[in-house]
Amino acid sequence: MQKKKVLLVEDELAIREMMKFAFINSDYQLLEAEDAEQAQLMIVQEHPNLILLDWMLPGISGIELAKRLKENDSNNEIPIIMLTARSEETDRIRGFDAGIDDYVIKPFSPKELLARIKAVLRRVSPENEGGIELGGICFNNSHHRISIKDKVMSLGPTEYKLLHFFMTHPERVYTREQLLDYVWGGDVYIEERTVDVHIRRLRKAMSEFDVAHLIQTVRGSGYRFSVE
Ligand code: CA
Repeated sequence: MQKKKVLLVEDELAIREMMKFAFINSDYQLLEAEDAEQAQLMIVQEHPNLILLDWMLPGISGIELAKRLKENDSNNEIPIIMLTARSEETDRIRGFDAGIDDYVIKPFSPKELLARIKAVLRRVSPENEGGIELGGICFNNSHHRISIKDKVMSLGPTEYKLLHFFMTHPERVYTREQLLDYVWGGDVYIEERTVDVHIRRLRKAMSEFDVAHLIQTVRGSGYRFSVE
């Protein structure tokens, strides 16, 4: 099978070198560009499956390039993960409506980034729409079925949505507020402790399969699904 192409747009040589190393035994082929102009050429020539885009680039900034790509019909399907140096930028990315699929704050570990790439590609590529497998849990969205070692786990609709969200967004902490936004939808008013209630139910169901530990409580922050 042909490896999926990931285009890294990054002006810092050290980061490109680190990624080159990290990608050696990965499922992806790494392409590199050091600025937006080069990136645009590579996109036309290589049709990458995903773009890792540095926010701070000389000349055209990463965010400007993202905007251009998303406005262009031939490129707007390519998922983008932004690489950002400062955490305050993440708020701007969150509020930024140009279709950024995810972001990673520097310094990041290559392992974390690879997990993020995998999760984004899984979300966007139709051939994988049917299923996700993570931490031994098989999630079949088209059949609304979750199983572990061929045994079906039955969940209520909210727990189902929660677990689906966690499995498509692994290794990252989400606050209760964010979970309400993403899983329940922003318009409804629900108290944050409702999240805890559903997490508890989800864990209870998961504990029968010895996988409740995959949902971690991060003190003072929220929850995380982690297989590491
Ligand atoms: Ca940079």
